[in-house]
Amino acid sequence: MNNVYPAFNYQQMIELHHNNAAIKFLFLPYMAMGEEVIAALRMHPEVVIIAQSNHDNRVGEYRGMIQEIMTEGLTNPVVIFMFQNENDKEDMQLKAAADMGALIFDGLCDGIFLLNQGKIGIEEVDATAFGILQAGRVRTSKTEYISCPGCGRTLYDLQDTIAKIKNATSHLKGLKIGIMGCIVNGPGEMADADYGYVGAARGKVSLYKKKECIEKNIPEEEAVNRLIDLIKKNGDYTEK
Ligand code: SF4
Repeated sequence: MNNVYPAFNYQQMIELHHNNAAIKFLFLPYMAMGEEVIAALRMHPEVVIIAQSNHDNRVGEYRGMIQEIMTEGLTNPVVIFMFQNENDKEDMQLKAAADMGALIFDGLCDGIFLLNQGKIGIEEVDATAFGILQAGRVRTSKTEYISCPGCGRTLYDLQDTIAKIKNATSHLKGLKIGIMGCIVNGPGEMADADYGYVGAARGKVSLYKKKECIEKNIPEEEAVNRLIDLIKKNGDYTEK
């Protein structure tokens, strides 16, 4: 591993000073963070640190490294690098999400870099990385659905409606759609959604754009199509 992604050394420091690229990346393990490295990073705040760890407790080591970066007052962006050698997609996803998710939720990194050299396609690895960023609420790249679990107050067939809305919108990028069974708690629970589909009365639905109610009491049979029309009218829809 260290042969592929070498620790910071004198040659790299020379390259840092003489490299005129707009963005510079530096692979950096915690153990390599000596005085010279810290001084070089202070002189080059544009350098993006690719934090690297092979420790058994990677999260602990990353935390230690970022703590030191903060203590030194360095402002270089930090990307967490994770190398895996998994052949099972679920194993890759769980390990990446557990390690990187913890650091994202604590606000300790500016990006993630996931590399898997097992038999999992690059598309799956990319999808996992984007999924982790979206779950960590730092980058939304696919449609997200916020729905209530349903209860005695639900005013329409929630499961069937969720399936229809997903079928019509899952290809869109970066939208949040709230699907709520009733008006009592619905608008409050989906407060950060871009669009909302909320039960208004038995068999009737109201549609929201952000927090504003745009259409009231639409018959349930028409409501999914009217939601799509509303998304189109606001320029947020692309054809499949
Ligand atoms: S939003 Fe309404 S229907 Fe959904 S769980 Fe809350 S109270 Fe029940």
